[in-house]
Amino acid sequence: MKALVLEKKLELSLRDIAIPTITGDDEVKIKMHTVGICGSDIHYYEHGKIGQWLVKEPMILGHEGSGTIIEIGKNENKLKVGDRVCVEPQITDKNSKEYKLGIYNYDQSVKFWATPPIHGCLVPEVIFPADLVFKIPDNLSFGEGAMVEPLAVGMQGATKANIKPGQIGLVMGCGPIGIVTALAALAGGCAKVFIADILSEKLKICENYPDLIPIDLKNENLQEKVSKETNNWGVNCFFECSGAVEAYESIFSCCCPGATVVLIGNNATPVPMDWAILFAKGLDFKTVHRYSHQYENAIRLLSNGKINLKPLISKTFDFEQSIKAFERAAEHRAEDIKLQILVNG
Ligand SMILES: [Zn+2]
Repeated sequence: MKALVLEKKLELSLRDIAIPTITGDDEVKIKMHTVGICGSDIHYYEHGKIGQWLVKEPMILGHEGSGTIIEIGKNENKLKVGDRVCVEPQITDKNSKEYKLGIYNYDQSVKFWATPPIHGCLVPEVIFPADLVFKIPDNLSFGEGAMVEPLAVGMQGATKANIKPGQIGLVMGCGPIGIVTALAALAGGCAKVFIADILSEKLKICENYPDLIPIDLKNENLQEKVSKETNNWGVNCFFECSGAVEAYESIFSCCCPGATVVLIGNNATPVPMDWAILFAKGLDFKTVHRYSHQYENAIRLLSNGKINLKPLISKTFDFEQSIKAFERAAEHRAEDIKLQILVNG
């Protein structure tokens, strides 16, 4: 059974790997269908590490996956063979304090797919604990099912923002996470959401979404535009999804007093902040690290059409082309939002 293996930095191979044969009592075996390429997969490919996580041994990439159940453990009674599913890719320790508190995404012992040394899902079959495997409704494609993972990050951000109906949001960064965060904020009650970036190709994809207002930072003044559109008040929710240090300056100029600032993008370098000004505005800061308890809500919003992620799937590659898919992803083309791979198409 061939898998897409990151041998080391900048070296991928599609090679044989032992097939998992035993399914534990609480586990299911899934025939993978579609797997999305995440920014983190590309980062491991290009740099061999993310922060504290180093690729020391060959690792199968991919954590945004959907597929079909082909075997179930004997304790499992909510899923059955043949179910179309997506996977929340974190194996949790049910005895951890974080798990019991419902914040298992902060448990350091969580085993997250394609985070060294845990293998990911760019492989024809995987075995996974059934509790974090979710059925996808018939009206969703496998491609959309594989988008639930990034959407869950946006859902976590919107949830942390404590959005009140009719509020106005601003998202910095128009990558996949920026867009899904903006859509989750709209679904969560924002009347309109601005999304700002320097790449007009990415912003173009947002033009067809109602109430999502692109701001091209190359041609438009962010502060002036936000000020004009909010009667000089500012936005209620600010989502940082760009990872760019400059984006933090907009917190001062674009937030209304008492706004919530949700930090989702990862910064490569520390960001200096004038905290005194932030205190004076009474800003509330939240951070997002992955997600917990978001999959069911995300699937519901996709299924009832309140969130449509189909326009974000830029291109789909066959499994045999998966190295090419990563090379394309590493080109960071402005017009590419999400690239996906058909493992068993
Ligand atoms: Zn991801």
